[in-house]
Amino acid sequence: MEIKKEVKVKDAGRNNPLEYKNFPMVPRVVFGKGSFVQLGEILMPKRKHSEAPFIFLVDDVFENQELAAKIPCIFSDKIIFISAEEEPKTHQVDAIVDLIRSEFAEEPSGIVGIGGGTLLDLSKAVAILLNNKGGAADYQGWDLVTQPSLYHVGVPTISGTGAEVSRTTVLLGPERKLGINSDFTTFDQVLLDPDLTIGVPKDQWFYTGMDCYIHCVESLTGTYLNAFSQSYGEKSLDLCKEVFLGDLNDEEARDKLMMASWHGGMSIAYSQVGVAHALSYGLSYLLGIKHGIGNCLVFQYLEEFYPEGVVLFYKMMEKHNIVLPKGICKDLSEEEFNTMIRVAMGMVPLWENALGENWRDVITEEKLRSIYQKI
Ligand code: NAD
Ligand code: ZN
Repeated sequence: MEIKKEVKVKDAGRNNPLEYKNFPMVPRVVFGKGSFVQLGEILMPKRKHSEAPFIFLVDDVFENQELAAKIPCIFSDKIIFISAEEEPKTHQVDAIVDLIRSEFAEEPSGIVGIGGGTLLDLSKAVAILLNNKGGAADYQGWDLVTQPSLYHVGVPTISGTGAEVSRTTVLLGPERKLGINSDFTTFDQVLLDPDLTIGVPKDQWFYTGMDCYIHCVESLTGTYLNAFSQSYGEKSLDLCKEVFLGDLNDEEARDKLMMASWHGGMSIAYSQVGVAHALSYGLSYLLGIKHGIGNCLVFQYLEEFYPEGVVLFYKMMEKHNIVLPKGICKDLSEEEFNTMIRVAMGMVPLWENALGENWRDVITEEKLRSIYQKI
């Protein structure tokens, strides 16, 4: 794929469109099958003292499972199991922070998030809020966090979102669904153990994996594309094709999808997502539809914007016998359609990336309504 246009990389939401991003990366990462056993050793030098606990925020799908028994919980450490049924919310972050502050007199040594994008995002937000005043909703936006977050570690158990590398944590707040985008959001340490993804249900594996695939398509076809994003996006796209269309064995597929997620996240970090994400945000805001499946529901109808990407998407669905739910929007009122359209239209940088500065010439309320009506 060729770079269509050399553009300076805009940081969504910033006033100066010509400012190059000075983008934080995860400073330390472990990758490897079975590497989870190293977590205790990694945390040890970060322990301030025995009364300063590590707080493990863990997807409750692992409660009473083998993984939970392997968590290096010592001294006054605490494991909090959290459901990933719903996407993370600002008030949920505030409640976890209150719980930690009320239970421990000492500031914790750090936060460890174990789970998918939901738990990774919650963990990033909790680490920020433990060191910053106020509530999580105060920091939704760009570069509003002033104090460095508490040391925080991400351990993904499902691959695709790129939340393990990104400088954002996407939260549903009282007024909007928006990330806390900041230099302090990014994890201090990530541990990538592909074996942790073994128990992921097939449909969920596909939906979250497609989040990664869609990140690549949106990044690589966008107007914000640059050599940095392209280099990661192309690698990630190749890995997605191997995983979803090739004939890898399960172990290879787990390894490669974990790295596809990482590279996909790196690609959008220095560019932006596009049409599917803008529309998926509308679905998620109104109906609570989760990110991965929401992206798939929308992407199937985006052949006008991503012709090649959508053809491959259908091939992947067919190969894995995925049947997407239908009729999601059929009973919605006029007002509800308008809410989704308003939320989607509000994602200006995403439209600008997808279609250029004159995106409003192409994207009308009627067009968005007709896409939502198909879902
Ligand atoms: P998730 O964390 O919502 O989990 C999906 C389901 O998979 C849950 O039921 C969970 O319990 C289950 N699960 C996870 N690991 C499992 C395992 N090993 N075995 C069995 N079940 C397992 O899924 P996700 O798609 O990774 O995350 C979606 C969230 O990520 C959304 O909230 C979205 O906003 C966020 N997101 C964040 C970023 C970012 O950059 N911060 C990017 C994309 C998406
Ligand atoms: Zn996404």
